[in-house]
Amino acid sequence: MNLVEVGTVAFDSIETPFGKRDKVVGGAATYISLAASFFVKESGLISVIGDDFPKDMLSNMENKGIDLQGLQIKEGEKSFFWSGKYHYDMNSRDTLITDLNVLADFDPVVPTDYHNCEFLMLGNLAPSVQMSVIDQLPTRPKLVVLDTMNFWMDIALDELHAVLKKIDVLTINDEEARQLSGEHSLVKAARKICDMGPRILIVKKGEHGALLFHGDRVFFSPALPLEEVVDPTGAGDTFAGGFIGYLASTKDISFDNMKRAIIVGSAMASFACEKFGPERLLELTKDEIDTRVREFINLTEVDIELVS
Ligand code: AMP
Repeated sequence: MNLVEVGTVAFDSIETPFGKRDKVVGGAATYISLAASFFVKESGLISVIGDDFPKDMLSNMENKGIDLQGLQIKEGEKSFFWSGKYHYDMNSRDTLITDLNVLADFDPVVPTDYHNCEFLMLGNLAPSVQMSVIDQLPTRPKLVVLDTMNFWMDIALDELHAVLKKIDVLTINDEEARQLSGEHSLVKAARKICDMGPRILIVKKGEHGALLFHGDRVFFSPALPLEEVVDPTGAGDTFAGGFIGYLASTKDISFDNMKRAIIVGSAMASFACEKFGPERLLELTKDEIDTRVREFINLTEVDIELVS
């Protein structure tokens, strides 16, 4: 298996200033695997759900080449549930409820078919679970990317620090980068966070794009100015899925290719915001993705002659 992704598969209740949805399918690994499926033929998903999770969604995922051998289904138990409310700018939100349910005692088992995975995406969930997946792999993948959030910084900071030592790329949002580093300046934060383990840091800034830091080098991808943002839930995970999916399909982990990958990730994230939950990702076509990536290129391409 070329690409393996770990993370929550969940239900979300979402409230934005413009609408509300109760108990839609969500979860970090749901968005990651759906986004990556446009770039890789097959990927393996490691997660846990209760028997309340819709079977048709699982079939949709399998039809997109997402292998579910690593997905545990716990009879009589409830899936992870998260509820959030967005502020008027749609860039920031408050978490109202996090019910771990099946995630509380999740013990991941990495299927043998995934042991040789080259690209590992450790999506948002308990750092101890992320670590357990790394520990079960007999050979280290070519690239390990990790995403996390303030929730885990608040309750499992030591475990998070331990797993940060084992990864190559960390993706977090600007607020979380500040919390993790204790620095307000994102440049200083990047330096401190890279001293914690990852070589590369990606800071997601919602509608203000994403920054890619590697040593003294920095690259910026804008976010597409959308006429209407319906629901930004999962945009960060969709970004991560597009990023690692593109890298896994090109098998090139150079800094230059990562620049391309954050443009692709940003294009994928823009789709996620257009409808509630993962709805837009389920109907998306490769042609639409290509057109959108071109829009990103046009957004920043400029001919400029410097006058001295
Ligand atoms: P994003 O908007 O990209 O940050 O991701 C939102 C998704 O993350 C939602 O679908 C939630 O189900 C999931 N989520 C929220 N909180 C957590 C958490 N503490 N751990 C793992 N996944 C979470």
